[in-house]
Amino acid sequence: MIGGVAVLAVAAIGVTVAVVGIPNRGAAPEQEMIVSGAIEQPATNDSFEPRARFNMSLYSIDDPNSLWVVVNKLRPFDPPSFEPSGLVPVPVPYVNYAQLQEVASDAVVRMFADFESETGHQMQALSTYRSYAAQQQVYGGNDLLTARPGYSEHQTGLVIDIDAIPRTCSLQACFADTPQGSWLAENAWEYGFILRYPDGLTDITGYQFEPWHYRYVGIELSTEMHETGIQTLEEFFGLPAAPAYN
Ligand SMILES: [Zn+2]
Repeated sequence: MIGGVAVLAVAAIGVTVAVVGIPNRGAAPEQEMIVSGAIEQPATNDSFEPRARFNMSLYSIDDPNSLWVVVNKLRPFDPPSFEPSGLVPVPVPYVNYAQLQEVASDAVVRMFADFESETGHQMQALSTYRSYAAQQQVYGGNDLLTARPGYSEHQTGLVIDIDAIPRTCSLQACFADTPQGSWLAENAWEYGFILRYPDGLTDITGYQFEPWHYRYVGIELSTEMHETGIQTLEEFFGLPAAPAYN
């Protein structure tokens, strides 16, 4: 930098220091604007580009047909027997017959293929779409572990419970430590999925840590949640925490 002084705000330790004579990587956006015409910008200096404004109302969070529908213990399906349209068979290995909305199915296929090619391991669908009637069979009476019929996110056709091949830590917290579970935690957002019931957030989601349960929300929302670090749909959309049924 020629004859310029950039003020670098060091937010983490709360001090301000003057930086002289180095490229202005890390300068606050307003200083960036002031000096940007006067110096040569480093080719990789994109870390302070303003983020495109995220459209919070791109999809409904109330319509059960919406990619962003939020289903929890305070937000049941209406009608309770709602069935999504456009379910297709998911062409991946499965434990229970696998059906999802087509957009979610396509994302699962890509995600499973990339996982296998990157790691040499395999995974399979354990549970996908479940109808109201199927949820009646699944509900075991423990509200922290399974949803009551009419309240299960699986009824959207946008949710997959994932299992390792061979089966390891199925539906257990230790799935998080398998090659499958750890890869998913790191990479699923790139395919439009979020880990819907993260560790330590039972007071918000109403469910124990489920490192196998992934919800398709589309790449826009999964990316935004990844980049902002907001883990739950309830927090992201400013909805009440849903630790229990009314
Ligand atoms: Zn699940």
